[in-house]
Order: sequence, then structure tokens, then C-alpha cells
Amino acid sequence: MKFISTRDLNQLSPVNLREAVLQGLADDGGLFMPSSINLISKEELEKMPFMNLPEIGSFLLGHFLGNSINKVQLDNICNEVFNFPVSLVEVENGIHSLELFHGPTLAFKDVGARFMSRLMGSFSLDKNNEIKVAVATSGDTGSAVAAGFHGVKGIEVYILFPKGKVSRMQEKQLTTWGDNITAIEVDGVFDDCQKHVKSLLADEELKKNILLTSANSINIARLLPQAVYYAYAWSRLQHLEKPLVISVPSGNFGNLTAGLLAQKAGIPIHHFIASTNINDVVPSYLKDGKFLPRPSIQTISNAMDVGNPSNFERMLHLFGNDHQSMKQVVTGYHFSDSETKAAIRTISERTSYAADPHGAVGYLGLQKFISENLFDVTGVFLETAHPAKFPETVEESLGKKISVPQRLKAFEDKTSYSIPCANNYEAVKDILIRTKAASPR
Ligand SMILES: *Cc1c(COP(=O)(O)O)cnc(C)c1O
Repeated sequence: MKFISTRDLNQLSPVNLREAVLQGLADDGGLFMPSSINLISKEELEKMPFMNLPEIGSFLLGHFLGNSINKVQLDNICNEVFNFPVSLVEVENGIHSLELFHGPTLAFKDVGARFMSRLMGSFSLDKNNEIKVAVATSGDTGSAVAAGFHGVKGIEVYILFPKGKVSRMQEKQLTTWGDNITAIEVDGVFDDCQKHVKSLLADEELKKNILLTSANSINIARLLPQAVYYAYAWSRLQHLEKPLVISVPSGNFGNLTAGLLAQKAGIPIHHFIASTNINDVVPSYLKDGKFLPRPSIQTISNAMDVGNPSNFERMLHLFGNDHQSMKQVVTGYHFSDSETKAAIRTISERTSYAADPHGAVGYLGLQKFISENLFDVTGVFLETAHPAKFPETVEESLGKKISVPQRLKAFEDKTSYSIPCANNYEAVKDILIRTKAASPR
């Protein structure tokens, strides 16, 4: 399997998996995509309901990656990556929560980060040279990447997070690792962090001296494994024999793009909902065909506070830049913080299910789609994080305390290490060049 840039429309510069993963961003500034996606056969689809999660993972990733990776290696990686459950909970009649938060950092990004770390670890071992990984985070990406890569030999990780813009608990999960994980606290917003990472990856001087890559959702190694739980959800719900509609609470749109890839491979997903907070550039595009990136606005679903979603370029690519085709498959809605809090409360009152602010946005999108379209569907919203990761918001909405899982509590007692950094590219670059391990604040 070869990978091509979203900007390489004539497929003139395909690269192999290793190059796509280590390069992160294509030379022309585009994002890598599989050069082609075959349809899964009917026979293979029929087997899926009888396969477990790691088996579905290995099958689907093998389908995307082809001969880029051998089957035994892929089986082993998938057994490690998918060693925690993905749960489907029927919250109310026909509405299911796809719980993606049973991994080490209690958020869906564990899936992509764990797959990527193991894949890269295998590259680093092959060639015996050090790889540096830079990642920007608005909260949960960084902790998943840190947890996924912590202790992986031959890899140094740099996490850029916006000062004062992540929750206390998120900060603990970014800054308490040490060893090969360095947390950089940038005096700016998430979009600044993301811009700096893009500049690092495009920096010719750095390229000459170090093997540098990114672990953001722009990396194809993070994106592809996320397609797996869409296939899993379908396999567990297909017997209901109703059109499957999946609502994806979205920020950088990696998660939704992965769903579209699963669909393109032939997983029978009828429709997607792009559910966002007030940072609604994609829902606006879906409405009027105009894509107008703008600075992000802070909300209570802060992992989705993205004003210029990177993966939109991949979505456009998948639909051949055609607004109408995208609209036929994806509907967008956005919701305010007060609507989100009200939803957390209503869901709990009606069903006693505690949703997190991101999942609640997904739930709202699904409800709105159903109310506007009236047809009988199997509805799924992705529950992207455990509610206990956002205790202030969830407890305020519910008017009561929620219980915190032990593996989250454990972070509380650890010591934070991060390097304060001006919102300035040269300052970031300097830290990346000079620092090898985390140093105490
Ligand atoms: C990252 C994140 C999202 C948004 O996912 P994208 O792939 O960036 O669209 C939603 N919810 C949570 C909890 C997240 O951490």
C-alpha cells in the first residue's frame, strides 16, 4: 500500500508507510491518505459479527495497509492496542453510546496513540536511530500520546500545550510522565501550538539533523486505527437491520475522517453527524459550502476547541472537493455550552447515564438529526472521554458528585514537570533541539 498527499491530485509522489508515518506531513504541505481503498467483500463483512475487537482491528488495518506490514506483526500490535474494551451502551431506545474511554487516559485518543507508538517503535528498532515526536494538544491528545509513548525506546516526545487552557486534571496527565516525555507550556492558544508543530515539521534545518515527526491526528498512523471501532460498532448493531447513523463530537476531525474511511472500505454506515461546539467551521461549510477557519473559542468541551481543523483537508479529498457529495453523507450541527450542560442533565435524568461534555455534544447532534429526518435508525454517538475527566462541568450540570476511576485519581499525586515557553517558533525550536528529558519547573 502506498500513501499520497491530499494535494497530490495526480498521485505523482506516493510514499510507503514508514515514510508517511515518519514524515507526518507530505512535502507539499498536504496530509497523507491511502492511495486507494478497496471494498471489503460481502463474505468478509459477514464474518465480522463473530470476530472480537483485536481481530476486527487486525483485519481492517490489514485491509488499509496491505503489504506494508506483515500479518503476525499487525496481529501482535492490535492485541496490545485493543487490550481494553470498546463498549456499546443503549442509553435509550435506539440510541447507543459507543464508549471509547476505557483505555489508560480515559479518552478515545488512546487508540490512535497506542497504535502509532508501537508502529513507530518498530521503525526505530529497525534502523536503530532516535526519533523525535512533536505534538500539539488542546488537552486529551497529549496525554494519550504521552501514555502511549512513555518508555518506548529510541523515541523522544515533546508535547506543546496552551498555558491555562487545559483542565487541571488534563495538565496532570500531560506533565507527570518524565523520562522520554517533555511537556512544553506555550503562552498561547491551541492553534498556536498546532502552528508551531507544523513549522517544526516543515523546518529544513531541523530535517537535516534530526528525524522528527508529529503525533497529532494529522499522522496517518493515528488516523487509521480509529476506523476500527466504527467497524466494531456496525458489527455489533447490524442485526437491528436499521440504517446506522453515527454522531461524532468533533474538533480536528480526525475521528470523523476515520469513520469516513471505514465507510469507504464498505462498512455499512448510513450517515455521519459532525457535532461541534461553537467552533463550527465544518457545520457552516456543510450548510453553505464556505470554509472559513477562524481563531478557536474556549468552551466546556475543550478538546474540540479548534478553529482550523486539519483533517478537513482529508474530508475534502475523500469527496473530491465536492460540497454536495459531502452533504449527502455528513450533516453538521453545533451546540452552545448551555445546551451541552442541559443535555448532560437531561440524559442523566431520563436514562441515568452520565455523559461527558464531548459525548453530550454528540448526543445532541444525533437527537437533532433524528428529529429533523424522522426515519427509524440505529443511532450511535461516540462517547470520547470519561465524564470524570471533566468533573467541574459534569458535576455542575448534574448537581451531584460523580465517582472518579482509580486510574485517573493516580495522576493527582504525581509531580508535574513542564517547560514554560513564549508563544514564539524559535523558542519552541530551541527547546526541542536542546532538551532530552523533562526538567523540573
Ligand atoms: C480530541 C477529542 C475530540 C475531537 O476529536 P477530533 O478527532 O479532533 O475531531 C472529541 N472529544 C474528546 C474527548 C477529545 O479528546
